[in-house]
Amino acid sequence: RTLPTRPVIRQLDEAAINRIAAGEVVERPASAVKELVENALDAGATRVAVVIAHGGKSLIRVTDDGCGMTAEDLPLALSRHATSKIDGSDLLAITSFGFRGEALASLGAVGRLSLTSRVEGQDAATVSVSGGRMGKVAPAALDCGTVVELRDLFHATPARLKFMRTDRAEAQAVADVIRRLAMAEPKVAFSLHDATDGRDREVFRADPEPGDAITALGARLARVLGRDFADNALPLAGEREGLHLTGFAALPTYSRGAGVSQYVFVNGRPVTDRQLTGALRAAYNDFLSRDRFPAAALFVECEPRLVDVNVHPAKSEVRFRDPQAARGLIVSTIRAALTGAGHRASTTVAA
Ligand code: ADP
Ligand code: MG
Repeated sequence: RTLPTRPVIRQLDEAAINRIAAGEVVERPASAVKELVENALDAGATRVAVVIAHGGKSLIRVTDDGCGMTAEDLPLALSRHATSKIDGSDLLAITSFGFRGEALASLGAVGRLSLTSRVEGQDAATVSVSGGRMGKVAPAALDCGTVVELRDLFHATPARLKFMRTDRAEAQAVADVIRRLAMAEPKVAFSLHDATDGRDREVFRADPEPGDAITALGARLARVLGRDFADNALPLAGEREGLHLTGFAALPTYSRGAGVSQYVFVNGRPVTDRQLTGALRAAYNDFLSRDRFPAAALFVECEPRLVDVNVHPAKSEVRFRDPQAARGLIVSTIRAALTGAGHRASTTVAA
């Protein structure tokens, strides 16, 4: 028996580890934008301005007016598994978007990243990292808050670069991410500009919505999904086993043939969850034919311990402790709203 030459086991260096992890966190420019905008929101920003070029492939810049970081914070923010959002003792009490402490480390491993930040009452500072190598922290000029600039995403991982779609498709995905987060935070101002080849085109803008929570949400949904949706949508309010549902569901007559017009948020986090969209579909079963898609924006709120958000590095999947309660809540609340609005089940109409 001939044995292969014995391979050597070695510890990978930090840059390699980050590049590997980045594969899960940053799939495309839109996922980078998602992480950066979530960081801005976690920092308590009231305005988040995003600039991209070439669909985010050559440039992503996110500016916020949040709490900022000190000069000492900057290298920590860029290192892996460093976070200010949890202390590690309780993964069941997460109330922020972030908690894994790996987005900035990953982005710095697969692109050229620079962080410039200022905490009120202190001097601003800046630091850059490229291909996982961090430069020195230097003084900078900035009013307040944070500017994160990411250039040449995936220049360090050519294999991933090949999977990028057209600038147009990537820009579209970036806009979708911002629209979703804008729905989740009606009181925050969002903007997206496209600065490809030195131009400056406003792609999306939402000013802070006035009024109480449901009024502001209605106004923001009108802004993001269109007046047409808002005029055809019923407000939702339901409760089951500690889970609360608010949001809006469109009248069956507003249904769409295809395309995404279904948005689900769990504790303010945009999620893609087959079970929850399945429940949405089921709620409309008797009101809509199979080839039509109900439009809705659903906001499920609960105590953090009733839902696990630590399912995947991108944090867009969740697991409810009681999935049947989540499903039942969605089905019964929407059915009640549709029935209350006088929309009799189509089966009854046909009979
Ligand atoms: P996480 O968000 O999971 O903590 P990140 O890598 O995204 O991990 O960020 C690391 C840390 O850097 C955050 O915990 C936060 O303290 C800090 N940070 C990142 N972005 C910002 C920002 N825009 N404003 C203030 N602090 C930030
Ligand atoms: Mg983060």
